[in-house]
Amino acid sequence: MPDEGGRGEPEAACRWQLAAPVPRSRFPVPSVQQTVTVLVVGSVALDSVETPFGKADDVLGGSGTFFSASASHFAPVQLVGVVGGDFPLEKLKPLTLRGVDLAGLEQADGESFRWRGRYRHDLNSAETLETRLGVFSHFRPKIPAQFRRAPFVFLANIDPRLQLDVLNQVEKPALVACDTMNFWIESRRPDLLALLARVDLITLNDGEARQLTEQSNLVKAARWIMKRGPRHVVIKKGEHGAFMFTEKSVFFAPAYPLEDVFDPTGAGDSFAGGFMGYLARTGRVDDENLRRAVVYGSAMGSFAVERFSIQRLLEIGTTDIRQRLIEFRRLVAFEEELPD
Ligand code: AMP
Repeated sequence: MPDEGGRGEPEAACRWQLAAPVPRSRFPVPSVQQTVTVLVVGSVALDSVETPFGKADDVLGGSGTFFSASASHFAPVQLVGVVGGDFPLEKLKPLTLRGVDLAGLEQADGESFRWRGRYRHDLNSAETLETRLGVFSHFRPKIPAQFRRAPFVFLANIDPRLQLDVLNQVEKPALVACDTMNFWIESRRPDLLALLARVDLITLNDGEARQLTEQSNLVKAARWIMKRGPRHVVIKKGEHGAFMFTEKSVFFAPAYPLEDVFDPTGAGDSFAGGFMGYLARTGRVDDENLRRAVVYGSAMGSFAVERFSIQRLLEIGTTDIRQRLIEFRRLVAFEEELPD
């Protein structure tokens, strides 16, 4: 792990080796029999969203929800979270139809988590208008016994205290990843730093990485984070793609250039769902597989933004995912012709 800059090195110098090209593959979606489960804790919410293209009130949202809908295309998903007494449970039926195990989802007395957000013409950043934690403020996750040995654990964006609580209840996962956002970076920084020390990988967007690390340069921000625990750092840049930093390399995947982005809500969680789901489906966490997982994550994020809520993630199937992966490969393919 290279040390932090600041001793006169040029600001932009990246001392990681450049990524070796990913070998050609047909981007198969591997067979279900090989798969292992993904456990996720996250918010299950009622979202009210305004974009330049429309408005939706009290639609199904939440980091745990988007993650589950996305990851369920690759692997069996176990969801841990809480909803309030006011939650219309029938909204969750599409998740159960996709095989998401809701045995860890509690219904508690009180109001459901609600998030209200708006996107203006820059669809890369959401403006949070209101966050009502409701039942999440008193929630203590209880991981069902049959969930505790999940090899892949994703601590989706939620109070870092709850993320830590879940970590204390699982048994030796092969990979633990987490996400977070500005809300928690501001209000729960010490817990978040304690969490960093215990995860293998973190996904966060560029603004959050800068806010957390107080570094404007993303390479330095990734290094700052890696010094505090995670071996892998994925920094998402919305429509400008995603970087994955590991100890020895950096990998970049573009975002899919969609002509119509309808509602960006949930892109990050769907990215994480595709990423973790793919790792679980293939059962390997080596560097090359992690790179492929970034591309699968980008593909799933690109589907999520085509409709409100998890609608598009429910419509697509293996053929759509495979097709988009082929398009991703075309997007970056070029013939190398260096002059002598
Ligand atoms: P993203 O993938 O970053 O667009 O996440 C969008 C989802 O995050 C929405 O469906 C919200 O319900 C959820 N969300 C917003 N704020 C929070 C928060 N503070 N904690 C947990 N989940 C949140």
